[in-house]
Amino acid sequence: MSINTINRKALRLCGSAALLIAALAAGTGAQAADVSSQQASAVTAMPRVLLLATGGTISGTADPRSAIGYNSGNVKGQELVRGVPGIDKLASINAEQISNVGSQDMNDKIWLQLARRIDEAFERNEADAVVITHGTDTIEETAFFLNNVLHSDKPVVLVGSMRPGGSTSADGPNNLYEAVEVAASPQSRGRGVMVVMNDQIHAPRWITKTNTTAVQAFASPNAGAIGYVDPASVRFVMPAVQSARAALSLPANGQLPRVDIVYAHSNMDGRQIDHAIADGAKGIVVAGEGDGDMSKEALAALDRAAAKGIVVVRSTRLVSGFVNRNVEVDDDKRGFVASLDLNPQKARLLTQLLVANGVTDPFKVQQAFSGTW
Ligand code: ASP
Repeated sequence: MSINTINRKALRLCGSAALLIAALAAGTGAQAADVSSQQASAVTAMPRVLLLATGGTISGTADPRSAIGYNSGNVKGQELVRGVPGIDKLASINAEQISNVGSQDMNDKIWLQLARRIDEAFERNEADAVVITHGTDTIEETAFFLNNVLHSDKPVVLVGSMRPGGSTSADGPNNLYEAVEVAASPQSRGRGVMVVMNDQIHAPRWITKTNTTAVQAFASPNAGAIGYVDPASVRFVMPAVQSARAALSLPANGQLPRVDIVYAHSNMDGRQIDHAIADGAKGIVVAGEGDGDMSKEALAALDRAAAKGIVVVRSTRLVSGFVNRNVEVDDDKRGFVASLDLNPQKARLLTQLLVANGVTDPFKVQQAFSGTW
């Protein structure tokens, strides 16, 4: 597999811009004019990055009351950028505040706002790439959602931090620097949405948060990182995968349909599933045991759901491996969908988007999960 390394052109450009300013300030006549004409085009060639801030620990400040406490959402997007030395040499960055929430409060409204703003920015050619600052709890969900609804080949990079600004081991500034570096890289074209955390680049389908507090909290257990980044280089180790993206439309009424996740465990009965049916869920995702298993009572409740036209998806509560069709559960007979490598939270999102797009037939839903439609 070939590994590409890029030298950051932007850094050189910025150095050149400094030269230009120095030359003009010195008023060195013809020489200055010469530098000016060469460098003006270099300066305008700097990639334009639209930074959309949504909140999270990356915009938090350490709380003096305790060593681990912090208040999220204290620092706005523009201030975040100002706090990262050298970031202005990578790209010309325009920051906008979309929301200011801990990502445990991320919701449909903000997702739709993000998707619409990104579409608009690319359509109007306002930006060459987008960086989204986000809390880490649900960053994988937002990345997966956007990857399914955005249609541009310009890069969209999500980034967060595990430690707030001002803490002894703040990881936000480096993560943000590297996110802009990836967004500005010509190699990122055609790769859709990505997540940058702790020197790694991950794809939305595979990334998941695997640790509550560690700086190295993210992994893509079924695939590995798609690339690596440090302040000197961006390296992709996987080719761009386009087939796994289903181009879905945003819901016309501005709301995603309700899809519930039910967590499987020993001694499980069917009551939570029956409650979901009674509460009007349009889909049910089971975070199953092992390869998407659950008790006989739970399966019987899922049969009742499928009989009502509710989309039933078997996923797993494990962090790695695939849930395949018809292994221990006869999905063909029962009309169920196997989530393959999508974890419950992503299976839920894809089901929501499919139902919103009028896709409820288990065969078609399964195709979308496989990325084969
Ligand atoms: N609860 C925070 C959030 O997701 C955690 C973080 O950002 O690391 O917004």
